[in-house]
Amino acid sequence: MSEAKNLINLPKNPASRDADALYGVSRWGEGLITVLDNGHIGLLHPSRPEATPTDLMSVLDNLEQRGISAPVLLRVADFIEWRIDQINDAFNEAISELTYQGSYKGVFPIKVNQQAQVIDRIVAYGQRHGFGFEVGSKAELLIAMAHNPGTESALICNGVKDEEFIQLALMSLQLGFNTFIVLESPRELELVLAVAETMKVRPQLGIRIKLTHEVSGNWAASSGDRSTFGMTIAQVMDVVDALRKRDFLDCLKLQHCHLGSQVPNIIEIRMAAQEACRFYLELMKEGAPLEFLDLGGGLGVDYTGEHRATENSTNYTLNEYCLNIVETVKYAMDEGGAPHPVIITESGRACVAQSSMLLFNVLEATQYDSTEPVSPAEDDHTLLKSMLAVEEYLTLERVSEAWNDLVYYRNEMRALLKSGQVSLRETAKAERIHLYMMSRIKTMLADSDMENEEMRAALEQTADILHGNFSLFQSLPDVWAIDQIHPIAPLHRLNEKPRRRAILSDITCDSDGKIDKFVLGDGVSNTLPVHDLRAEEDYYLGVFFVGAYQETLGDLHNLFGDTNVVTIELRDDGSFELMHEQDGDTISEVLSYVEYDPRLMVSNFKKTVERAVQAGKLSPRERREMITAFKDSINGYTYFER
Ligand code: PLP
Repeated sequence: MSEAKNLINLPKNPASRDADALYGVSRWGEGLITVLDNGHIGLLHPSRPEATPTDLMSVLDNLEQRGISAPVLLRVADFIEWRIDQINDAFNEAISELTYQGSYKGVFPIKVNQQAQVIDRIVAYGQRHGFGFEVGSKAELLIAMAHNPGTESALICNGVKDEEFIQLALMSLQLGFNTFIVLESPRELELVLAVAETMKVRPQLGIRIKLTHEVSGNWAASSGDRSTFGMTIAQVMDVVDALRKRDFLDCLKLQHCHLGSQVPNIIEIRMAAQEACRFYLELMKEGAPLEFLDLGGGLGVDYTGEHRATENSTNYTLNEYCLNIVETVKYAMDEGGAPHPVIITESGRACVAQSSMLLFNVLEATQYDSTEPVSPAEDDHTLLKSMLAVEEYLTLERVSEAWNDLVYYRNEMRALLKSGQVSLRETAKAERIHLYMMSRIKTMLADSDMENEEMRAALEQTADILHGNFSLFQSLPDVWAIDQIHPIAPLHRLNEKPRRRAILSDITCDSDGKIDKFVLGDGVSNTLPVHDLRAEEDYYLGVFFVGAYQETLGDLHNLFGDTNVVTIELRDDGSFELMHEQDGDTISEVLSYVEYDPRLMVSNFKKTVERAVQAGKLSPRERREMITAFKDSINGYTYFER
């Protein structure tokens, strides 16, 4: 996203502008997400800059009126279309700029988001580019075969294949799909040839090589010698010899490799592409009539907007990625005297990550400070008197000293409680003074512009915990599993200065269900600036760029199921079209996933209630009410409902 476009999107309202800078929205927002002058988060139409932004709070309000409540996963179809266009256009521009003689064929790896609504959109928007699919299982192959992306697009079959998988792949070839069966191991070769001979179909084969080059980032294990997929150099040669011997070498049309997801550094992309080209040229020398060079996934998303080679960012743009690949392949092929191959990439993350966001309400806040002042008493313990005296020297200059003294005195009181020298009531007073003084310190620092690293670290330890209506394990599994960072921001009140700092906790009863890394305008922080919760108003947060991997990797921890999912299309006047809605799992559905029969549960419950009626503990009317409540719950949403 160009700097110029980001600047155009900056809010005019100075308070909203401050919020934009604080949360770094225009830094990570890719020109899709903005802070509006009314202090709400807005969605921008990526290819129609003149369109009025869509206010996310009015989307939520509108959905609520239709009976679709938070938490909700919101998909924006226009964002998928924009990314597919961008990826294809960037490759085509690089091809024409460098006078590359081959072409580009993108494929979407279905594993990155298998949801039918996403796949339907990809087929619809990808058709004009000949955008195909990569599949890694029979189920994914069936999804691809049930759509018709057109004969121009490639269908890449990776993964471990049994006879049925191979049969299906060959059937798709017979039907006119441009299917490549990628040999993952020498063992697979025999099976593929046997099925092909039985079906009397000449397969289009690919060979998956294991690059020796190792990339950095979270998916380093997908590359290098110890990666689990692909063949070693020795195995590749064995397969080539076997193909030649069996008279199938002419079927070997494609070479495949995959570096891993979210590659942070462009140099690694270039080096891997270089190595892949060396393999390609050598295989051609061996007589393989290769035409397609598939470089797999790896194109990263700059989740933090930092534009750095770190796990959650990238030091390159999409255009640089395409130029680097096309240039590397062109030079290598020219040097090796080979025709320029069709370049295939399998960018899934970069295609769909931006298109989905998780919107949820905050249920409550646990705070580690209090605005309730504590009065002195004559018989206060000396430590309590010292704590109360801290207020006299609480100034910006002496704030660290005041903080350290408070913590010291409070800890001394705790120690005295353990050794029986002070009472529980006295220690409670120490805790209350501590909480009150913390609130004074936090307010003082929030009102000042003081930059004090020590205090910043100390404050993080007393940040609020906001309890959100979502399950980390269901909706953001990579945050739990690999410390993935997604941009998070309040969806409203952004023209008010956020006076508190918080970490987030989800609705599961698991202490792992927390988020304590946040993207801000000046880098990654351990706390998120948030506003005071108001009694009569829900506070909403959004987690952005969650469209890749999160939906199907999620699990049912504490039996929180899929959230409501809505796909929208943005309209120019700032409204939206509801393209599709999918109700979140009901309790009955999640129970059946874990082998319960909800009907049997209702019937068992009825028996329990009936026994209570027989024993005179419940009236028949109470029995009816209880059974109705049980049935309503079993058919209800798994998340917190008002
Ligand atoms: N291709 C293959 C073979 C993969 O295993 C993966 C995922 O790891 C991808 C493509 C998608 O890569 P990315 O996440 O970079 O889009």
